[in-house]
Amino acid sequence: MKIVRRQLPMTPAFAMTSHAAQGQTFSKGAIVDLCIGGSSSTMSSYVAITRVERREDLLIYRPFPLHLFNKGQKPGMELLLRVWRHDETIDWKAIEAEHMPSKKCWTCKCVKRKDFYRNMQWKLSDNEGNLVGSCVTCVEGFVMQGRPCQCTSCWNYLPETAFEEKQRKWQSTCKRVCFHCVEKRKCRYVTLGNLFQLTLIMSGNTLLGKKAHKASVQLV
Ligand SMILES: [Zn+2]
Ligand SMILES: [Zn+2]
Repeated sequence: MKIVRRQLPMTPAFAMTSHAAQGQTFSKGAIVDLCIGGSSSTMSSYVAITRVERREDLLIYRPFPLHLFNKGQKPGMELLLRVWRHDETIDWKAIEAEHMPSKKCWTCKCVKRKDFYRNMQWKLSDNEGNLVGSCVTCVEGFVMQGRPCQCTSCWNYLPETAFEEKQRKWQSTCKRVCFHCVEKRKCRYVTLGNLFQLTLIMSGNTLLGKKAHKASVQLV
């Protein structure tokens, strides 16, 4: 009986994360991967490539995103040092505006940070440039009340039935105007008929918290 055994010559190798490699020196060299999924970071890359004593002992495994290393220092560390030095010239308002932007919610009038708004509501503005977006809490409140659709003229949240059928499904790019606003535009002369309509519009707007005088101005 004859047995033939074939094997691939293999050598055990070791891999570790840069966190695990902290503080170690690899005198025989290291192969580093600076492009591990979305988790490349400057700090862990720095740890990885400084585990050897000579540049010749380092092999970078594959191309890596260069922009991560061109962004410069993050402001946090420098700012902390300034705080410790009792630097009185730190402009906290400007720093907050840059890193934690906030704005007033059009509905609840509270100043809230950007992450309290959906993307579209954060940017939403009317023709005059007023920011008319509402915070997530307010929008969800409207949905719970059965008023999920926002009118792009009066910016009120209204039930689906306040809009034409084709405007009920809405993409952020289109205009959606409620029946109240459509009627306001049509009225040119105050007749007894649309005076009655006006009363309805005004009471509707008052109920929705909008100033009623706006409706009357448009009819003059
Ligand atoms: Zn709000
Ligand atoms: Zn409207």
